[in-house]
Amino acid sequence: MLKENLFQKIIDKQIPAKIVYEDDRCLAFRDTNAQAPTHVLIIPRKVIPTHDDLTEEDAALVGHLHLVAVKLAKQLGLSDGYRLVVNCREGAGQTVPHLHMHLLGGRAFAWPPG
Ligand code: AMP
Repeated sequence: MLKENLFQKIIDKQIPAKIVYEDDRCLAFRDTNAQAPTHVLIIPRKVIPTHDDLTEEDAALVGHLHLVAVKLAKQLGLSDGYRLVVNCREGAGQTVPHLHMHLLGGRAFAWPPG
């Protein structure tokens, strides 16, 4: 079972986070259990529980999240490359029921991922 939506509490500023970017549609903050020297989560303000819940009306929002990832990768100095990850549902490792994109960089990444 996916746990409660912790990320809504970060959006509402009820729990603290190291926010690196925010605008009217999304915010980005440091992952507290970083898996790379740079590990940022980019989340929409809109509650979308999983990637599977995206609809046509979210197309521009998803594009925006990707463009924010490009901007942040530049700002955070990920010039050697970076990895974007979206875990969809428990089988893929999703633990928070609020769509989020992991932006990881600062080290080499193996393929396929574990
Ligand atoms: P996922 O496993 O794809 O659902 O990713 C959830 C991520 O949220 C994990 O990498 C956690 O380390 C991270 N996380 C959980 N709670 C917090 C928090 N309060 N602030 C920042 N990151 C968090």
